[in-house]
Amino acid sequence: MTEIVIVGGGAAGFFAAIAAARADGNCQVSLFERSSQFLSKVRISGGGRCNVTHALFDPRMFTTRYPRGERELNSPFHRFSADDTVGWFEARGVRLKREEDGRVFPVTDSSATVIDCLVQEAKASGVRLFIRKGVESARLRTHGGFDLKLDDGESTACDRLLLATGGCRSVGGAEIARSLGHTIEPPVPSLFSLHVSASWLRPLPGISVSDVQLSVGKLRERGPLHHAQRNQRARRVTTLRVGRPSLAREGLSFLAPRELDPPRE
Ligand SMILES: Cc1cc2nc3c(=O)[nH]c(=O)nc-3n(C[C@H](O)[C@H](O)[C@H](O)COP(=O)(O)OP(=O)(O)OC[C@H]3O[C@@H](n4cnc5c(N)ncnc54)[C@H](O)[C@@H]3O)c2cc1C
Repeated sequence: MTEIVIVGGGAAGFFAAIAAARADGNCQVSLFERSSQFLSKVRISGGGRCNVTHALFDPRMFTTRYPRGERELNSPFHRFSADDTVGWFEARGVRLKREEDGRVFPVTDSSATVIDCLVQEAKASGVRLFIRKGVESARLRTHGGFDLKLDDGESTACDRLLLATGGCRSVGGAEIARSLGHTIEPPVPSLFSLHVSASWLRPLPGISVSDVQLSVGKLRERGPLHHAQRNQRARRVTTLRVGRPSLAREGLSFLAPRELDPPRE
């Protein structure tokens, strides 16, 4: 029997674990999560409602919504598209709804529905689930497979290893991948929070606008915008969240304009 270890109990880890277990009945899949909770980011996703996917069913178009990797994602999205995502959840009893702007949510408006589905499906597929089991390091064995050192001092071994340890805040997974000879591309954000002190925006917290043009220097972008207000150093700060690829491409993650012009009539 092939022993597969998935490191990281987030959305990617769960989906990978389920796919591996379903693909080959002759393998034992174990999922190791370092923290005390699975899928904690899914819980807060989409403001607690979990925006499961987007109703953009042309795989080629779908790739253009990512800051990088238009080419790299072409093949994966042709094999498993947004349409397949909808079908996957609905086949497992999660009813979905499409909102006006194309975002797809569970009809319950609760990320718990998605979490329950993934956990149930993993269990039903025979995945062994472990919390408080972090992988500290991995070493390639001479004759194939991996030796893993865990953060509780234990060690274990597996034939196949899949790292699904999330984004840049968790350096652990990247370090393991690097130690095994992989090269890590520095991550870039696809959503930007712009902190501005424009007084005309202050009375409008919580507002989302589907089509806004943002200009910063020579850059111009259109896209959705969410406006939140929060306390920062005892000062009211307006935060605009804008998700546009070209800002990342231009390396403008440091961008923080202080003023924003009101819309012209
Ligand atoms: C506020 C917010 C809202 C969002 N809303 C949406 C949305 O509506 N729709 C959407 O599609 N996306 C949304 N996202 C993005 C989405 O949540 C992430 O892209 C997704 O959860 C990433 O999943 P992941 O499995 O790659 O990583 P993560 O969810 O980060 O999971 C990685 C897991 O690995 C564990 N781990 C790390 N290192 C180790 C180790 N060494 N050993 C063991 N375990 C380890 C971590 O504890 C973590 O649980 C949102 C994100 C945020 C922050």
